[in-house]
Amino acid sequence: MDYSIKEITRIIGARSTGIHDAAIHVLLTDSRRLSSPGQSLFFALKTKGNDGHRYIEELYKLRVRHFVVSEIPENHHEMGEANFLLVKDPLKALQKLAIYHRKRFDIPIIGITGSNGKTVVKEFLYQLLRNEFNIVRSPRSYNSQLGVPLSVWQMNEKHTLGIFEAGISQPDEMDKLEPIIAPTIGILTNIGETHQENFLSMTQKCLEKLTLFNDCDAIIYDGDNLFLNNCLDAACLSHKAIGWSKVDSDAPLFIDSIEKRQDHTLIKCTLLGLDQQFKIPFTDDASIENVIHCLAVMLYLKPTSVNDLSKFATLEPVEMRLDIKEGINGCVLINDTYNSDINSLDIALDFQLSRRVDKHQKCTLILSDILQSGTLPKSLYKRVADMVARKKINHLIGIGRDLSAFSSLFEGETDFYPTTDEFIRSFSIRKFQNELILIKGSRHFHFERISELLEKKVHETILEVNLDALVHNYNYYRSLIKPETKIICMVKAFGYGAGSYELAKTLQEHRTDYLAVAVTDEGAELRNEGISIPIIVMNPEYSSFNVLFDNQLEPEVYSLRLLDAVIREAERRGLTSYPIHLKIDTGMHRLGFQQAELPEVIHKLKAQNGIFVRSVFSHLAGSDSEKLDEFTLHQVSRFQEIATQIEAALEYPVLRHILNTAGIKRFPEAQMDMVRLGIGMYGVGESGQKDLRNVSTLKTTILQIKQIPAGDSVGYGRSAFVERDSRIAVLPIGYADGLDRHLSRRGGEVLVNGRRCPFIGNICMDLCMVDVTDVQAEEGDAVILFGDNLPVEELATKLDTIPYEILTSISPRVKRIYFRE
Ligand SMILES: *Cc1c(COP(=O)(O)O)cnc(C)c1O
Repeated sequence: MDYSIKEITRIIGARSTGIHDAAIHVLLTDSRRLSSPGQSLFFALKTKGNDGHRYIEELYKLRVRHFVVSEIPENHHEMGEANFLLVKDPLKALQKLAIYHRKRFDIPIIGITGSNGKTVVKEFLYQLLRNEFNIVRSPRSYNSQLGVPLSVWQMNEKHTLGIFEAGISQPDEMDKLEPIIAPTIGILTNIGETHQENFLSMTQKCLEKLTLFNDCDAIIYDGDNLFLNNCLDAACLSHKAIGWSKVDSDAPLFIDSIEKRQDHTLIKCTLLGLDQQFKIPFTDDASIENVIHCLAVMLYLKPTSVNDLSKFATLEPVEMRLDIKEGINGCVLINDTYNSDINSLDIALDFQLSRRVDKHQKCTLILSDILQSGTLPKSLYKRVADMVARKKINHLIGIGRDLSAFSSLFEGETDFYPTTDEFIRSFSIRKFQNELILIKGSRHFHFERISELLEKKVHETILEVNLDALVHNYNYYRSLIKPETKIICMVKAFGYGAGSYELAKTLQEHRTDYLAVAVTDEGAELRNEGISIPIIVMNPEYSSFNVLFDNQLEPEVYSLRLLDAVIREAERRGLTSYPIHLKIDTGMHRLGFQQAELPEVIHKLKAQNGIFVRSVFSHLAGSDSEKLDEFTLHQVSRFQEIATQIEAALEYPVLRHILNTAGIKRFPEAQMDMVRLGIGMYGVGESGQKDLRNVSTLKTTILQIKQIPAGDSVGYGRSAFVERDSRIAVLPIGYADGLDRHLSRRGGEVLVNGRRCPFIGNICMDLCMVDVTDVQAEEGDAVILFGDNLPVEELATKLDTIPYEILTSISPRVKRIYFRE
């Protein structure tokens, strides 16, 4: 269902500068997702930290011709074939277009909102109804002001049911989403504390969410929840409400009993007066509630669909993240077992493209048959083949009888196998070398067996790094500074222990301006892995100048000796204007030029042209401490004075920067041209700060649990005796992994199944023991050493140190695992 540019111009009420018309198929909002330039319409969106207008020129070079903008670019003359659709607000224009598109369909649309469970309910409904409807639904959790219009845009004339989620974090947002989804059936999953900060009360938030249902025929919710009932009344929506109940036997859907067994739950219910029972393969309360919502929707939407409830037993858990793991032979694995329909394949392929080290890295896709009803297999696999070709997959391994049957549609290097077993038997895994491998299969193909084969074997202790949380924190600090101020992201010391490459890659994708590392080798490694943005080396060793210059790394220069050496090397290489960064000591008294040296520095700089000063900077000694504010302000003013003096003498503009994380938060007036963001990006801010998300989680598993009688001791030196009969868990992590040995005597704790357990006895080199007498725990259970509910700051306080030291002490043998939500 393409639209012409003329039509779109009219729909969004734009003023158009071009005369060429074109058929538009793709709405592009992220320049990195470009795949079919000719059919794309780019919306230049402004967000807190970024502005889409910046990418117009780059996209034009890639042959995109149509742009929705709020300002015509100054250099539009250089883009002769470009067509600009000028509007006040490109996001609003996108939403208008989606509203128009939505109005063309007269099919049932399910709108889901609530604090938790939106995506799970949507995916469960999809699994339960996909044989009866041709369903269009939000990809992953596309539920925002931007995600919702893009989800709705996917609708076409073949669809017979839509399922979309809507999420809000601020008042008035639902008003904008309501006409885009225009649901006929609403589901309110529940209301909790999430995103409460921007609302006056829970009631205000709930009423805002309920505006999604203004024009619904029915609203499904937990009828036993008094709060929800009151809100529905207050919103005057109670006449459409269909509450299911565990207590009211007159409810349209009455749940008689819920019996939890070892690995499943038996639910007895009364449906339209008929007693029925069914099994689900989950035992947690959230899944049970989500399943009941689905049952209620099915009952309302298509009563015949609940004649046979056996399909509930085959529901598959919904996993919502893409795992990135290190594989064998230098490969990187991306595991996506979320589901195997064509939309999620598109998203996963985009993600794979964005993780490539460089254009030459081989991309391999291991794909199973795709479950999709409503489309003929031939046209489905034609679309898959087009997608695979467009995303430049070098090697396709297709597993399944359907894919094999349509193998002739695929070009390039391909291999097909009828079953997973067959693939494992016949494929030599040594054939994979330095590839980026996306493993994407529907659950019953059991692709986890393939990823186990390809995974580098890991020690059970891991540091899990949440890349989305990193981006969240980065954007948070971005929002505190002026749009034109640049950010240098500090990824020194192996990214504060979290691993520099994956972080650098993610930050580069989010267009950070600069990276900084401690030593030359760290920078060279990033270059080898394809990081191309500027990198500053804070402490360039004299012995590594070759590597430094060969890799276009920009040195920090802090002494006359180093200045001489850098100039000499640049001249020896016949370079002119190689960028360097001058460090000034304004009171920290670590590295940096002192004021008295400046005349000589300036003299030397003016007498050569091998290097030029890109920036001048200084470091604050106590930006996080109120007691030192006077000193900090003194450092800032001294720095400004010196920087002005240098700039005047050099007669060219030089960037200035002095703030680190705490400085960004506390001295916004000193942000100058750049800031240097470190610890805050890793999730550690001022104490009690709620704007940041945890990035790193140190995790292990219980190796063994033993019963110890009262009076026995545990561990080396018999330092601890148990006073009662106890259960002691042994964990495969010790001081050689970076777990501080002092923790056991200073009240250190770990989290087992969400509950705190103390260390007992001395921490050993590779193992330690914790007391699990008071909690439910089994061998194999996960244990958290620090993370979401056990912040690294707490460990730091107990150990009388700072979070920096704990994060950077995690030993390299602890595998880092990266994920996105
Ligand atoms: C490490 C470092 C930073 C970052 O400090 P945070 O407190 O982690 O934000 C900034 N500037 C310099 C010179 C550094 O060495």
